[in-house]
Amino acid sequence: MPTADTRVQVVSVGEVRVRPDNIAGTWRPMLWWTLTSRTWSPWLPVNVVVIEHPRGTVLFDTGQDPASVGDPSYYPPGLLGWIYRRQAAFRFPDGHGLEEALSVVGIAPSDVRTVVLSHLHQDHAGNVAVLPRADILLDPAELALLAERSPELHGVLPRHLDRDRLTPVRHTPLPDDALAPFTEGHDLYGDGTLVLLPTPGHSAGSMSLLVRRDALPPLLLVGDVTYDPALLRAGRVPGTGARPVQQETASRINALRERLPGLVVVAAHDPGAARLVAGAVGEDVPHDPDGDG
Ligand SMILES: [Zn+2]
Repeated sequence: MPTADTRVQVVSVGEVRVRPDNIAGTWRPMLWWTLTSRTWSPWLPVNVVVIEHPRGTVLFDTGQDPASVGDPSYYPPGLLGWIYRRQAAFRFPDGHGLEEALSVVGIAPSDVRTVVLSHLHQDHAGNVAVLPRADILLDPAELALLAERSPELHGVLPRHLDRDRLTPVRHTPLPDDALAPFTEGHDLYGDGTLVLLPTPGHSAGSMSLLVRRDALPPLLLVGDVTYDPALLRAGRVPGTGARPVQQETASRINALRERLPGLVVVAAHDPGAARLVAGAVGEDVPHDPDGDG
């Protein structure tokens, strides 16, 4: 198995709370729980994964834009904006934007060479502007959402995205049998140590990143494919997205676990993500939903 001497850390840029029906995916249709839910999840992190690879520093996602909580015109006007606010709420308890969060782990924005966006929702793509020197990579199917008449209906806010900086990757057949049932992907450095895999469903072009490190378990950074790796393992998918596609992606990832023993799934809003990455706990250990305790 190809590996590299890669250091991986998780920082949080903002916090989010969502509806419980979204996290666990229930029989209730999205519109129903969006209109009627009266409860929220605990506050969850908005994780950004910092990957210090020998070939350059890579970020997986960029977190929530602090402007989103102060600017009343950040979200679309009218009913659509109301639906956005019904589905998720954001806050910045420590006041940290991406730059401050990176400085805590000793990284400057100008150190980042490559950003991989799991998808274009604003809590993942919200801070591209903070990283002026980075190439910004995403799945071609996700970029295609920007060409639709109302990307906002897919949770994508074109007003806050610089289209010219977004570069679609080209998925090609993977020579590596170990990644079946994933047969196509984008091998970032051509050495198998960082491989982008299409994992659609939550959005049309949701993408994951496989990280294979020296002497540590492989990681699969999945964005919003799941809120909780234990739910994914049980085949449960979140309540926003195209459910049959989400379920196909979930079963592919679960099949990949068979191929890559010890594979650790890292979700964008998992409070246990930092500890999973550090190898401190197993994925099947219940997480403390309040954070570090
Ligand atoms: Zn999302």
